[in-house]
Amino acid sequence: MAQHDSRLDRLGQLYDLYDAFMAKNDLVCHKGCASCCTCNVTLTSLELDYITASLGPEKGASLMERVENNLAEKRFQPQTTINGFARLCMEGREIPEEENDPAWGACPLLQDNICTIYPVRPFGCRSLVSQEDCSRVGAATLSPLVLTVNNLFMQYIEQMDCHGISGNLSDMILGASPDFRFTGLVTIDNQAAKGLMVPPEHREQVASLLQDMAGICNARRGQA
Ligand code: SF4
Repeated sequence: MAQHDSRLDRLGQLYDLYDAFMAKNDLVCHKGCASCCTCNVTLTSLELDYITASLGPEKGASLMERVENNLAEKRFQPQTTINGFARLCMEGREIPEEENDPAWGACPLLQDNICTIYPVRPFGCRSLVSQEDCSRVGAATLSPLVLTVNNLFMQYIEQMDCHGISGNLSDMILGASPDFRFTGLVTIDNQAAKGLMVPPEHREQVASLLQDMAGICNARRGQA
């Protein structure tokens, strides 16, 4: 029997921790508002495992079918991960320019403006929230502190999956298919976090959250 991956439990705990933090923020997001659900969302291999393990094989297969039938020709295919980005910044190296346009299309997992995997959606989706109505102001608005917290969660999730890969949600789902007929898929290697991206003015405010995140991520196997 395959051994249970305790990182999946720890990922669930990180999601819960994030949800608890965000519950203290006034967000305008509500069911049926899906303007941020585009074909550009990304995730790590650990998050894809979390989705497939939670949904089971039958729903997992229908996920693949849904993506295959609604694949956006043009979609955001990242060249670097959040930890890769942090590393480049710390080393003073050039950051690759990345194109990302919501007009490229809707997320293939969106149906009638409702996410078909909402309870197990990846962090990239969880962090797509707004403190003002996006349709009125033209884009999601978040406080600088929430942006810092989002980056930290992304860094920790990648750190937990530092031997895995990341990519566009469609590329990752199709790439996990046992048949190799899909072309043009792009995935990138995850990296360990060389340093955490916390601006000095937020250090105090995120200190206890950081402690909780580290406690979850560093829990030994079997303690999850
Ligand atoms: S996975 Fe769900 S929440 Fe994420 S972009 Fe797609 S429809 Fe939206």
